[in-house]
Amino acid sequence: MVEHDAKLRGTCGHCHEMAELVRLNYAKLSLCESCFLKFVERKVDRTIKAYKMVKRDDVLLLALSGGKDSSALLHILRVVAPEVKIMCLHVDLGIPSFSQECRKRAEEMARREGVELTIMDLGEFLGCTISDIAFLSDYRRRICSVCGLAKRYIMNYVGSTRGATKIVTGHNLDDVTAILWDFYMTGELLEAVKIQPVTQPLHVKSLPRIKPLIELTDFEIKTYADLKGLPYASAQCSLGRESKLNRRKKLMNIIESSRPGFKHTLLKSHVKRVTPLISKVRLASEPYSWTSCARCGMPSLRDLCRMCRLKDELQLKLKV
Ligand code: SF4
Ligand code: ZN
Repeated sequence: MVEHDAKLRGTCGHCHEMAELVRLNYAKLSLCESCFLKFVERKVDRTIKAYKMVKRDDVLLLALSGGKDSSALLHILRVVAPEVKIMCLHVDLGIPSFSQECRKRAEEMARREGVELTIMDLGEFLGCTISDIAFLSDYRRRICSVCGLAKRYIMNYVGSTRGATKIVTGHNLDDVTAILWDFYMTGELLEAVKIQPVTQPLHVKSLPRIKPLIELTDFEIKTYADLKGLPYASAQCSLGRESKLNRRKKLMNIIESSRPGFKHTLLKSHVKRVTPLISKVRLASEPYSWTSCARCGMPSLRDLCRMCRLKDELQLKLKV
């Protein structure tokens, strides 16, 4: 949905010819359709270059969820880095109706862009779906973190076995600042500095992760996807509707509405000012030492990785 505002009757702030269509308050800028689409693509291109995210010989494994972010990410990468090889992975979480729509849109999107798509069925991989897990009282409140753990594990597993050099995800400015807010509020700065545009791996079987959409907002990405007519699932996952992340996003939007540019400033300060200071402390006090899971060989801090322990717990609880 494009922000049609009664006051938007002037001309585009870039070309000064076409009628303005999209207002970006944080940039004090109104753009026509064509200039807005170029603005988004240029921004992603600049982010990729600024953080040296992609090399010509990279093989990217893109997490194609079927949502607006990953659909837009795939399309923009094909525009700004057409020479880079991209493989897509969709994890079917088994959430009734929501997962079916997401899977359908991911398949449409991969076909549209002519890229290879691998589908992993969580029910087959884990022996149960995210919905099955959400029925268990022990997991209901933290279902999104269980879901995130499963998706990260599968991405790393598939990426490292299929020859990918990097994992690329559609995390955007709203996602990242909502997470950062919580870490700053609770003083968990050692955790906060793990949130970066590029995350380097700590184990041979984990891959670098890049977030080319990190400087774009939810609104910009949705508007881009709509104007380009990209397929994406509009349904929301019923399990996470009231998740902590969504509540934080709402809070960020309230602050942003009275202080336009707040989210961009938070991200910039985090990356440029806080990270260099805290990283030194983190390196000196790193209490963890990564090893390989005794069962699956994937990165772990204990004898068994979190995923293998989760599988064991679920087997007991669900008798799968
Ligand atoms: Fe998974 Fe939570 Fe997202 Fe639903 S909202 S898909 S449970 S992370
Ligand atoms: Zn394991």
